[in-house]
Amino acid sequence: MAPIPGSGLAKGLAVTLRTMTRKSHTAQYPDVQPDLPPRTRGVIGLFEENCTVCMLCARECPDWCIYIDSHKETLPATAPGGRERSRNVLDRFAIDFALCMYCGICIEVCPFDALFWSPEFEYAETDIHELTHERDKLREWMWTVPEPPALDPGAEEPKELAAARKTAEKLAAAEAAQADPAAEAARATGTGDVTPSAPGTGGPGQQPPAEGGTA
Ligand code: SF4
Ligand code: SF4
Repeated sequence: MAPIPGSGLAKGLAVTLRTMTRKSHTAQYPDVQPDLPPRTRGVIGLFEENCTVCMLCARECPDWCIYIDSHKETLPATAPGGRERSRNVLDRFAIDFALCMYCGICIEVCPFDALFWSPEFEYAETDIHELTHERDKLREWMWTVPEPPALDPGAEEPKELAAARKTAEKLAAAEAAQADPAAEAARATGTGDVTPSAPGTGGPGQQPPAEGGTA
């Protein structure tokens, strides 16, 4: 059957009208920044204090776009008769984002939590060489890495946090013992019958005189 003249035009206009009445999802970037999810793969940040120059990330990168240079440094023995130790010192750490395919393998394999995803994506360049970010620039990205999500309420305390908490508790106890040795001694012996020394009552830990005679 021959098409009715003008039916194509009518169909086209119907589509136009339908689209005009729908809610628009246009993002007004760059006037309005997009609300990106926290796990967005924008750019990689380097926390170089954690990097031990193990080279695992550079070896596993499928694009070979991580460049690391380092040298060895010998540290003297800490005690007489001890052995000298050597450690790797990072000289260069760079990622070529012109080659990177954002697979995240380097971040996954880093055993020392030195690499992180940042959702930042505004680093387009007119010169391709500028897309090789050296360690200073990679460090700058670290400050844009979002905080990790909170743990589940019933989750086990991470071992790093537990170790840090124990160290902080030990330090606080040592400071308390230094400030009031008598109270600390009583706490250690389990009597707990100690009145904290007050200024002007004598030396630290001195008991105030008992009222109403002896018991
Ligand atoms: S994200 Fe993938 S391609 Fe990019 S540097 Fe890391 S391992 Fe290499
Ligand atoms: S894997 Fe991690 S610790 Fe090892 S060189 Fe890469 S960033 Fe540094």
